[in-house]
Amino acid sequence: ASPADISLKLPLPYTDSIEIRNFIGGKWYAPSSNSYFDNYSPSTGKVISQIPDSNAADVDLAVQAATDAFPRWSALSTQQRAAHIHKLADLIEENLETMAQFETMDQGKTLTMSRNVDIARTATNFRYYANYVLGNPTEPSSVSTYIKPFNSAEGLPISAQALSYTNRSPVGVAGLISPWNLPLYLLSWKIAPCIAAGNTCVCKPSEFTSITAMMLTRLVKQAGIPDGVINIVFGLGSSVGNSLVTHPKVPLISFTGGTITGKKIAAAAAPMFKHISLELGGKNPALIFDDANLDECIPTTVRGSFQNQGEICLCSSRIYVQRSIYDEFVARFKDYIRNNVIVGDPTDQNSFYGALVSKPHFEKVQSVVQKAQSEGAHVEFCVDLSVSTHIKSIGKNGSLQVSGLEDGYFMAPTVITDVDQSSTVVQEEIFGPVVVILPFDTEQEAIHLANDVVYGLAATVWSLDQAKLRRVSSQIVAGTVWCNCWMVRNLDMPFGGFKASGVGTEGGGYSIDFFTKKQTVCLG
Ligand code: NAD
Repeated sequence: ASPADISLKLPLPYTDSIEIRNFIGGKWYAPSSNSYFDNYSPSTGKVISQIPDSNAADVDLAVQAATDAFPRWSALSTQQRAAHIHKLADLIEENLETMAQFETMDQGKTLTMSRNVDIARTATNFRYYANYVLGNPTEPSSVSTYIKPFNSAEGLPISAQALSYTNRSPVGVAGLISPWNLPLYLLSWKIAPCIAAGNTCVCKPSEFTSITAMMLTRLVKQAGIPDGVINIVFGLGSSVGNSLVTHPKVPLISFTGGTITGKKIAAAAAPMFKHISLELGGKNPALIFDDANLDECIPTTVRGSFQNQGEICLCSSRIYVQRSIYDEFVARFKDYIRNNVIVGDPTDQNSFYGALVSKPHFEKVQSVVQKAQSEGAHVEFCVDLSVSTHIKSIGKNGSLQVSGLEDGYFMAPTVITDVDQSSTVVQEEIFGPVVVILPFDTEQEAIHLANDVVYGLAATVWSLDQAKLRRVSSQIVAGTVWCNCWMVRNLDMPFGGFKASGVGTEGGGYSIDFFTKKQTVCLG
């Protein structure tokens, strides 16, 4: 069974819909359960598509297709694989506008973000890894001298040379599981190194954001990537995700998502000796010293806190400000938000951010705000109704009524002060447009506070003192530290979380390492 032809013409946001089917061995299939669940557009609250409620049987079929495709795909030359991947990137670029429209409709993020970040970066991810494998064709080899364990006829030791070299080869079928915040971007960040290195895969996108992954299946077919190299099974984490993680023929699992899910995956995969890469949650600090350039720091920190509705794992959510500039910072920070962070229709180019991804997430973020209020924290929803004239009202937990989109999941940029370091709002990931701001006195105290959570994903430090930046960065336990900037990404660099933020490293050769096995061969 294959779905009706899916138009890749420019859709009308909010009114168009897309048929989603599992993509297995180059064909589209209805789920074996033949049941579906509703998928909502976050900005309208309306159903826009049906997601297949797939199960273990569908995963089994997909793993079989990936297993069957592996010998042929892995036997291709690097050049042949890279050519296929470049073709896919070309098609993504050709269809960028359509895919961006659907990403926005499905996720709630602004069209500006979908165009310039999500879909653009998806194409970049594929190109980057096609080029990476082309540019790194050789493996280390070395010659060493050794003494043979017997003597010559004269009784002298025999010295010989051995050549050692590395056989790097793909592993097999990888399970790739991704979240809803940067849907196609994060999925492609896994597919690209996986297939460039010669593996095949079964992908499981988030059930909240399946549409662009479905669109990708069309382009995979159009690019001529052999059937079975990329398979996508749609559905819930507890069924599709879990079946993939526990499947005996899937030796590699690359997962990006929440820390609680990461724990479950680690527990399920460990007894099967699977290789796992876990990119998990964060609660990222921004440390603002009294010698920071606030004219640069404030706009960047606002962007770093609220971009994509605060739904980026790298967003700052705990801001620590040196006491001598604390009051000035808080006042200017809030003022800047009121005048610049326009929340509304994600297709409006004036909107800085759009709607939260789902109703359950929207309610969760509001409940955290309510808890902080009930614990006595000072909570401010930084919306100026004379600037944001399209906002009809602000709810008591920060929800916003946007004209024309009254059923959308819109949330005010929320700033919380007068709060303890030990409180839930400071310690736990919220993953929404909510930040806390706390004061600190000394450098050591700032470092202590930054590290005083279970997470260790990213941090930001602001100061004009270069020595201080280096000193502080090296003591922050986080995979990435940005100094006087935020979200500047260099794809060659290691990316990953420490502590409860993850296991393993992505980026450049680190991802290729994960997706390959390295064998030493020694010719004596
Ligand atoms: P989530 O953990 O709920 O879901 C992520 C994916 O895992 C989804 O596809 C889901 O269906 C699947 N899943 C759920 N239960 C599963 C199970 N038992 N077995 C296998 N798969 C399962 O996360 P989310 O709510 O989609 O995403 C938000 C989280 O992702 C946040 O915590 C955020 O910080 C994190 N994140 C981390 C990074 C990073 O690079 N470290 C990047 C983006 C998002």
